Amino acid sequence: MRNEQATKSIVIAGAGPVGLFAAVLLVKAGHSVIVLEKSEGLALNRRASTFHPATLDLLSPLALSDPLIARGSIAQGWQYMIHGTKSHAVFDLEIIHDLTAHPFRVQCEQYYFSDLALEFLLASPLFEIRFGHGIRGLEDMGGQVRIQVGKPGVEYELSTAWLIAADGGNSTVRQKMGLAFAGNILPSTSITLVLNHPFQDEIPGLLGVNYVWTETGYYSLIQIRDQWRFTYSPDPGQSLEEAVSAPVAEAHVQSVFPSLKPYELLHIDHYTLQQRCLHSFREGRILFAGDSAHLSSPTGGMGMNAGIHDAQCLVEHLLPVLEGEDAALLDRYSRRRHTIALEEIQRLSERNYRWHRETNPDRRQEIWRELQEIVNDRRKTRDFLLDSSMIRSRWREKEID
Ligand SMILES: Cc1cc2nc3c(=O)[nH]c(=O)nc-3n(C[C@H](O)[C@H](O)[C@H](O)COP(=O)(O)OP(=O)(O)OC[C@H]3O[C@@H](n4cnc5c(N)ncnc54)[C@H](O)[C@@H]3O)c2cc1C
Repeated sequence: MRNEQATKSIVIAGAGPVGLFAAVLLVKAGHSVIVLEKSEGLALNRRASTFHPATLDLLSPLALSDPLIARGSIAQGWQYMIHGTKSHAVFDLEIIHDLTAHPFRVQCEQYYFSDLALEFLLASPLFEIRFGHGIRGLEDMGGQVRIQVGKPGVEYELSTAWLIAADGGNSTVRQKMGLAFAGNILPSTSITLVLNHPFQDEIPGLLGVNYVWTETGYYSLIQIRDQWRFTYSPDPGQSLEEAVSAPVAEAHVQSVFPSLKPYELLHIDHYTLQQRCLHSFREGRILFAGDSAHLSSPTGGMGMNAGIHDAQCLVEHLLPVLEGEDAALLDRYSRRRHTIALEEIQRLSERNYRWHRETNPDRRQEIWRELQEIVNDRRKTRDFLLDSSMIRSRWREKEID
């Protein structure tokens, strides 16, 4: 098998938002990068849509936040809501305008971000992307990592000093290394419909991002430009196959928003939700970031944002090592982002998942009381928004040695 020496390049597994953002930072700093992506192009799936203030602040110096703002929808406020009574608990990000240059969430599909990053990278001679070249195996040889790459008919080995594993939740790198991915699958599956319907004209008080309780269930309704994402879980006893059929999905929307006209369903997707985390984000010369390192419930929209923050922290630690500093510095990357993944991202996303999906009336009352206490107290609202906008986790990361 051909062995290609890429000792001067950093190899990145995966052209998702995290791998591409790590590539942007490295190329900007003058390092050459090879991205291996097993698919033939960028993924067009509809997963992340929320970019939080902390991430917009981080992307801004690279001129990546303004194009996202231009392509997405701005949500300055977001809310919990009770469908029947239309009671609201509204969070206005303007309250933390002194702590961020972007006191709003941007709702925009994650593939626009990947597109933007790739557009920037393709303009640089330091960057190379190999679509259709998946990682199949690897070996840490001590001084370098030897990677087996290929698809049927094209197989070769690639040797590099550093491999960044950003190959997603099913990471081949993680699996080939036999690393435990501790955690669990969350009980309820998520179904997301993309609807072409002007909900904003019909539902008084609707904001761009809404987490809503119905009498016995829940949904979220999120606006991206002129379309809405409507997310919910299958009814108890309903098979997933049945739930994602177009007539059953249409009947579900009708049960929440009865209408004489059928809804225009543009897409139906479903997702299994998991909370998982690696024990360490560094294994010798292999560095993990994004979903390959940690997974969390998407309620509150933190997974990709946390992955982008991982990439920033990883590159901040890798650059001095490339200049000759002791590689032990990279253990601090692992300590910082591992702590944040477990103690901030998973803690908050687990709470968001629990609050949004609660159906017990007594527990709902308690949650609603707590939400009202927060929104009626400016200090508590600021504190709550520091967490949800991911500003606090970026501050805390820097305090971890
Ligand atoms: C329903 C849903 C909604 C979500 N909403 C949000 C949100 O609003 N905000 C938020 O922050 N997060 C959200 N998330 C999470 C977010 O989608 C992920 O955290 C994000 O995609 C992680 O990016 P990544 O680059 O680490 O991985 P991925 O996006 O999964 O990219 C990994 C890439 O690696 C490639 N790859 C895989 N195996 C190999 C291999 N062997 N060799 C080479 N390449 C390989 C894949 O093809 C893929 O292109 C949501 C998730 C779900 C399921």
